[in-house]
Amino acid sequence: MGHWFSSLTGQRHSNSNSADEVSAVDTLPFYLENNCGLISTDRLHVVRQLRESFENQLKILQISLNASSVVLFWSGPTLDQLSLYAFSGQSHQQMSDAVPVGYGALGLLKDRNEIALVPYHANSPPLPYDSVSPSVGGFFARCLSCREDEQRKTGNYGILCVDRSIRDEWSPQERTLISATVDQMLQSLTLSRDLLFADVERRTLQLAFNGLRRLNSALDMQSVYNAATQALNLIVDTDIFAISLIHNNYHQLCYVSGDCPETVLHHQYILDDSLVGQVVKYRRTLPETTFYAGRAPVVNGLKLFDWYKSVLVVPLLQEDQPVTGVLIIAARGEKLVTRSHREMIEMIAAQVAIKIDLAQSHEQIQQMAITDPLTGIANRRAFQRGFTAMYERAKRRAASFSLVICDIDLFKRVNDTYGHPFGDEVIQQVASQLDEVVRSGDLAARIGGEEFAILLEDTGLSGALDVAERLRKKVERLSLFFQGEAVPVTISLGVAEFPRDTDNRDILFNYVDQALYRAKESGRNRSVCWCDVS
Ligand code: GH3
Ligand code: MG
Ligand code: MG
Repeated sequence: MGHWFSSLTGQRHSNSNSADEVSAVDTLPFYLENNCGLISTDRLHVVRQLRESFENQLKILQISLNASSVVLFWSGPTLDQLSLYAFSGQSHQQMSDAVPVGYGALGLLKDRNEIALVPYHANSPPLPYDSVSPSVGGFFARCLSCREDEQRKTGNYGILCVDRSIRDEWSPQERTLISATVDQMLQSLTLSRDLLFADVERRTLQLAFNGLRRLNSALDMQSVYNAATQALNLIVDTDIFAISLIHNNYHQLCYVSGDCPETVLHHQYILDDSLVGQVVKYRRTLPETTFYAGRAPVVNGLKLFDWYKSVLVVPLLQEDQPVTGVLIIAARGEKLVTRSHREMIEMIAAQVAIKIDLAQSHEQIQQMAITDPLTGIANRRAFQRGFTAMYERAKRRAASFSLVICDIDLFKRVNDTYGHPFGDEVIQQVASQLDEVVRSGDLAARIGGEEFAILLEDTGLSGALDVAERLRKKVERLSLFFQGEAVPVTISLGVAEFPRDTDNRDILFNYVDQALYRAKESGRNRSVCWCDVS
């Protein structure tokens, strides 16, 4: 508060640095809620200019009305306070930079828009800025609020006070002059507020995009959780951030960060009429405002969130899919987020939902990848499950994936010529080439004696063909020797894409098999796409 007064009494900081300017934003005569930090430094001049233009208008008013002082108070920083925002004229003895709401003469404004105290005398209520005013002959005060919905009851308004030594009534012309000044001030207020709001919105959007970028590169559950925390921290100042995932009628806290003991993790809580239960049921973010009145517990049976003033529970959902979990954010302070923040958080939640779904399937695939003992890569059963999971997921997300099957060429001959153990070695070598060409999230499996399959997630035909060709060349370049004799090994491959070639799982497998057959038939050591067979 100190700097308000100092700037009014002429000790304006000449070399104002940006920290000063940012704190000056806190004194803006309108709410930017907790967004002040988001105003870019090159916009801060608006804050300064607003104050200067107000001071100029007050100066003009002072001279025109022959007033001793003209003072503008603005509500804040707390609900029961009014603070000195701009000032022109003589300094009063007991001038302080904040007064209680309804203090002295201002109490008369309780249900009126303006008051005039003429003549002002010893028994009149004290002036808000001077309790001992022998020189005051007349006083006038008028309320101003920026918007209808920001009337005095919402706690954002100003009061313009004028006093002068003469004891004449305020003439209609003088009142008109005051009104016109007030209107002009409100106009500048609206303009600068809109400008700053636009700036805040732009910055919030930027932050959200940065957050989304981080999320995009997360693969496993833990990195999704971490990236989500980082993304949200860019946007809001939370004390707790938690993710709870749904299993049937329960939800289970899977991740917490901030002020939260890890002991709450992994407990199951029933989906009831708690805030989380309602969010899941109604598929929308609650509470309506972030102010948490504690009417419904956030999580039944968990006291953890009860002490926070702001809480937001955001559903994790993908379009028309069932809600898979919730993000819970909580903060000690009031007014955690604004509407635009809320939308950003929902956008991030939607991305988190997708990433969690992917990470879960990814972990599922990893788990199912029961390895083939000879080669150490996934076995046929793991492939079948992975195939089903990838197929279901691609269908759900309307995404593509590709299937590649390869078979070692003329392998019977290798076995017959060099023996079964050497044949096994060849199988192992080919398998390790497969392992090298797949990315994490893809699945390479041995699905038969010398037959292998690769599932490529989010990959279309041309990408799959690239992988197939890379693998084929790698195998072709292998140097395998049996008792000093070079043994050339090649493979043939079939490729097809879901859903481009077919949206049926079994038909897809069948198509790839046909493509492989064509590769064999047309000379081996080649990759063939089903679309070139049909
Ligand atoms: P093509 O290129 O047309 O596929 O000719 P191919 O000789 O490879 O024919 P096919 O795929 O039918 O032959 C597969 C052979 O692989 C038959 C079997 O003896 C051999 N085989 C299957 N499993 C194993 C194994 O685990 N180890 C070894 N060494 N050989 C195996
Ligand atoms: Mg075979
Ligand atoms: Mg073969």
